[in-house]
Amino acid sequence: MDNKSPYLHPQYETLSREEISKLQAERLQATVRHCMNVPFYQQKFKDMGITPDDIKTVDDVRKLPFTTKQDLRDTYPFGMAAVPLRDCVRLHSSSGTTGNPTVILHTQKDLDEWANQVARNLWMVGLRPDDVFQNSSGYGMFTGGLGFQYGAERLGMLTVPAAAGNSLRQIKFMKDFGTTAVHAVPSYVTRLYEVMQEQGVDPRRDTKLRVLAIGAEPHSEEQRQRIEQMMGVKAYNSFGMSEMCGPGVGFECPEQNGLHFWEDYYIVEIVNPETLEPVPDGEIGELVLTTLCREAMPLLRYRTRDLTRVLGRSCPCGRNHVRLDRMRGRSDDMMVLRGVNIFPIQIEKILMTFPELANNYLITLTTDDDNDNMTVEVELAEMFTDDFGRLQKLNKDITRALKDEILLTPRVKLVAKGTLPVSEGKAVRVVDKRKVYQ
Ligand code: ADP
Ligand code: ZN
Repeated sequence: MDNKSPYLHPQYETLSREEISKLQAERLQATVRHCMNVPFYQQKFKDMGITPDDIKTVDDVRKLPFTTKQDLRDTYPFGMAAVPLRDCVRLHSSSGTTGNPTVILHTQKDLDEWANQVARNLWMVGLRPDDVFQNSSGYGMFTGGLGFQYGAERLGMLTVPAAAGNSLRQIKFMKDFGTTAVHAVPSYVTRLYEVMQEQGVDPRRDTKLRVLAIGAEPHSEEQRQRIEQMMGVKAYNSFGMSEMCGPGVGFECPEQNGLHFWEDYYIVEIVNPETLEPVPDGEIGELVLTTLCREAMPLLRYRTRDLTRVLGRSCPCGRNHVRLDRMRGRSDDMMVLRGVNIFPIQIEKILMTFPELANNYLITLTTDDDNDNMTVEVELAEMFTDDFGRLQKLNKDITRALKDEILLTPRVKLVAKGTLPVSEGKAVRVVDKRKVYQ
């Protein structure tokens, strides 16, 4: 490893667009042939009247069947395996945020490639073997734990597998071990900072922290900037999903201009979720991914349900791997309130512009007198509840700003810091208590 190179895998990271297409075409053909070991895909190919020989170029990916989360549930647990189980060495299960869990199998080669992917990302944001990397993800089925663990070890850093929660201990480790980089879900970073404040710990003065990898849940640019300011570090957006291996699928480079999705590992498509036709670059659609290097469980055109758009295919960092915008959320995170489509991230974006507010918020949807309503509870950064006039004005300003963004007037409730629930994993931002009329 050349410590000075900005690239860990220059032979892949600096490929031109033509070279990427060529590599993808080769890997796609091999993947499709390999999928013929899976009865699910055999049947799909039969139904669609196609054979692996029909797939020659990257664009031929559009001839292939989609795969959905439901397909993974229907074939639970091992129906999507493309190799015998004795060749698999680990399984992961998605966290089940939106329903029953699904199982993802890995061979040793899959795990090796995954570690390479994660290491590549961490290297890209300037981490080197001298760094000390602390992971505050839950270990176990959640891929954010072991995924970052093996990736950080592959890079050669000293790793601190602190796992989730126990903020006092996290902070002690950071100080004692000279932690320079932390991986955490964004909602947990803000919690960690609050505990630091309570303990009189200033991350700039009392720690060596300089890099954060934040991801696993949607967050706004405003939230990222807040995190960077609070902690005095650079915070890089990290995208992962269990079905694609876990963390490592897409990551921001030092330009912080979108997530580079690694096209030597995946074919990236953005489609209209209704027509399933590709949308032009710049337009929002559903992210669809095809794995190109997976042995145990290759997936063709997997519908992630995440909504995003293509920002570009070149970057001042020298990488031409497609850049995607931060995720708007999943199609199933979308709230439909009185016919208006709203994503939690839109609310967050507005709340984060008010310095009087802390970072935790909760959106509750209710039906009152046959009308659907939204209540936004948000914690105050400091207590000034005795200043009623000031609170009232703040409430009005937030309500107006939210209305401008979502076109509906929510009820805003300002609450004291520490009163809203905090989760150790992915934050729960929306509680839907509406009556369902059939
Ligand atoms: P589950 O699907 O049960 O939550 P995963 O841990 O596999 O389990 O989560 C993957 C999902 O997490 C992605 O499909 C996406 O919705 C979300 N996600 C992961 N990273 C990010 C990120 N950086 N920004 C926004 N959403 C993210
Ligand atoms: Zn870049």
